[in-house]
Amino acid sequence: MTASYIALQKTGKLKRRADKASAMLASCAVCPRVCKVDRLAGELGKCRTSSHAIISSYGPHFGEEPPLVAGGGSGTIFFTNCNLKCVYCQNYSISQLGQGDEASADKLSTIMLYLQTKGCRNINLVSPSHVVPQILEALIIAVDKGLTMPLVYNSGGYDSVKTLELLDGVVDIYMPDMKYGDEQTAKRLSGIDDYPETNRQAIKEMHRQVGDLIIEDGIATHGLLIRHLVLPGGLAGTESVMRFIAEEISMNSYLNIMDQFRPEYKAYDVAQLSRPLRMQEWSDAMELAKRCGLTRIARPQPGLRLI
Ligand code: SF4
Repeated sequence: MTASYIALQKTGKLKRRADKASAMLASCAVCPRVCKVDRLAGELGKCRTSSHAIISSYGPHFGEEPPLVAGGGSGTIFFTNCNLKCVYCQNYSISQLGQGDEASADKLSTIMLYLQTKGCRNINLVSPSHVVPQILEALIIAVDKGLTMPLVYNSGGYDSVKTLELLDGVVDIYMPDMKYGDEQTAKRLSGIDDYPETNRQAIKEMHRQVGDLIIEDGIATHGLLIRHLVLPGGLAGTESVMRFIAEEISMNSYLNIMDQFRPEYKAYDVAQLSRPLRMQEWSDAMELAKRCGLTRIARPQPGLRLI
């Protein structure tokens, strides 16, 4: 399985994309926050990341979506910080508390190549939305040294269409979240009110680039995999999200309707989030998806944590 970016590297397009992305750092509009800070000069925007990516951890991951794992695992790289401020973040020590170390382009490329030598099926970029320029810069170095693994863009779904356009033909598998169906909840829980509309534009662009998820012999090779974390009290707006997917993306969309919500970080400040998800709430969400005609839904992982 050879990644799409190889062709772009041969024609010099990958370098041009990387240069365009790097230029965005001078008045940052890499993500839809559009902070306009000069990250090259060390200024920090909402993602608190300057010119270098920060990496929390990396390695083969076997607890990822099964079609990404088959064989050698998914080669995950966890980027520190995030452009969202979810009060219930399940990875808050990485996304909100800044746990991690700065990595140069050389270091990041070395990590990509290491994951390939470990037999991983793909390079899984976790929380990449604020470090796309740094990823592209590292990718060029890694491809020159023999990287061929497909890239998985594993984001919270708050992505700029302009930045995503630079990834057209670079990313093979998009794996975004669709977190909310309404703006008030997005504002209250993630500190951003245009999440639903921005997220939907991003999902459309991702689907335009890669289409529905293709799985061959149990392994995802290309396409879009959408994740939706069900929140207690119906806060995730599941019906609105499922309707959008069915009506404006594709009835053949591959989904993971996730059950793993548990109160973390500042979730206890929100009454509805101060308990784990109930089995009934997750079953209701599954039912809503099916009622919308969506049937490509990942099987739940063993060991449901529901009450
Ligand atoms: S990537 Fe960071 S600095 Fe740039 S616009 Fe987004 S949050 Fe702001």
